[in-house]
Amino acid sequence: MSSSVVRAPLIAARASRARARGARRLSSVIVAARASSDARCFVFSAHRYEDETLRRALPNATYSSARLSLDTASLAQGHDAVCVFVDDDARGEVVDALAERGVKLILLRCAGFDNVDCERARERGISVLRVPAYDPLSISEHAVAMMMSLNRHLCASRDRLRVGNFTLDGLVGSSMRGKTVGVVGTGKIGRGVAEILKNGFQMRVLGYDKFEKDDFCGDYVSLDELLARSDVVSLHLPLTPETRGMICVETIAKMKEGTILINTSRGLLVDARAAIDGLYSGRIAALGLDVYENENRLFFKDFSSMNTNERMLVWDETMAILGSMPQVLVTPHTAFLTYEALDEIAKHTAENFRQFCAGERLEGANVVVDASVSAASTTT
Ligand code: NAD
Repeated sequence: MSSSVVRAPLIAARASRARARGARRLSSVIVAARASSDARCFVFSAHRYEDETLRRALPNATYSSARLSLDTASLAQGHDAVCVFVDDDARGEVVDALAERGVKLILLRCAGFDNVDCERARERGISVLRVPAYDPLSISEHAVAMMMSLNRHLCASRDRLRVGNFTLDGLVGSSMRGKTVGVVGTGKIGRGVAEILKNGFQMRVLGYDKFEKDDFCGDYVSLDELLARSDVVSLHLPLTPETRGMICVETIAKMKEGTILINTSRGLLVDARAAIDGLYSGRIAALGLDVYENENRLFFKDFSSMNTNERMLVWDETMAILGSMPQVLVTPHTAFLTYEALDEIAKHTAENFRQFCAGERLEGANVVVDASVSAASTTT
C-alpha cells in the first residue's frame, strides 16, 4: 500500500477528531458569550488557527486580520471593545484613537500587556482585561523542545535529509543529564521548565527571580552566578523597564562558554545583535528564539509572495543573519500555540467580555486597568 493511501484517512480522522474536540470544549464558552451579544467587539489580528476557538466563543464579534496600529484604529469605529494579541500596537496615540471612536474596553488575548499604554487607557476611560495564564506548560514544553532541537541538531539533520545527506559529522550533541539549567524568572512557565528538566532529564536547576517562590524545585542564586554556572539559560520574565535588554554584551560576557540560550518571553529581553556576537565568539553555542525584538514587523505575516522591492521595505538584517546561522532556531511566537492554550484564551476572553458588558465588578489577575476606579487599579 502506498504511503499516500495510508496518510489520507489518517489526516481525515485527525481533522474530524479535532472538530469534535473543538465542539465539546467550546459549549461552555458559547453559553458565556451569548449574554454579551449586545455590545460590539472588534477583533484585531484574527488568524485562521483561532477559527475553532475564538470565533465560537465570540460569535458576534467583527473579525479582521489587520494588526491594531494608528493606521487601523479607525476600524474599531462603533465598537465597544477591541480584542488584541501580543503584536498589536496599543501605545498612547493608538489608545487615544480608540477612545475617540467610543472604545471602552481592550481585551488582551494574552498575559503580557507591554504593548498597551495602560496609563493612557485609564485616563481615557478604557479598561484593559487580559488572560493571565493559559496552559503555561504549553510554553514550558516549547522552551524544552527548542533546547533539545538545538542540542541534538534536529533542524540540521532535517536539512541534510532533504538533500540526501545522511552523514553524522557536525551533529554531535551533549547529554542533558547532570548538566545545569538556569531558569531566569521562576513564575508559572519558568517553574514548568525547571520541573520538566529536573524530573525528566535529571538536570541541576538554578533559578533567579526578584520574588523567590517556595515551590521552586531548584536553587536560587544571583543572576551573575546563574549565568556563570548554567549550560542552558532559559528566560521567563515579563518585559518591564527593568528586564528590557537584560541579555546584552555585559551579561553575555558573564555566561559560561558554550551556553544554549532560550527566549520564549519577550523579544526585547535580548539584544539580538549582542547575541549574534556571542554566537560568533562561541560564548553562546546555540540560540532559540520564540520571540524577537522586531517581531511585530515580521511575525504572523507571509512575505514569500512579495516582490523584491516590497520585501526590501520590511527587510530585517538582524533576522536575516539569525536565519542564516545553523545554530539558531527561530519560531514565530508559537510557544503558546496548542489546542489547550487556544481553548483557555477563548474561554477567558469571552468571560472577560461578558463580565465587562454585564457591569460586574472587575477584580482578579485578569484586570490590568479598571477605568471605573482610581489609578491604583492599574496592575504593574
Ligand atoms: P509569571 O508572572 O508567572 O512569572 C514571571 C516571573 O518573573 C515572576 O516570578 C516574577 O517574580 C519574575 N520577575 C518579574 N520581574 C523580574 C525582574 N525584574 N527580575 C527577576 N524576576 C522578575 O509569568 P509567566 O506566566 O511565567 O510568563 C512569563 C513570560 O512569558 C510572560 O511575561 C510573557 O512575556 C511570556 N509568554 C510568552 C508566551 C509565548 O507564546 N512565547 C506565552 C505566554 C507568556
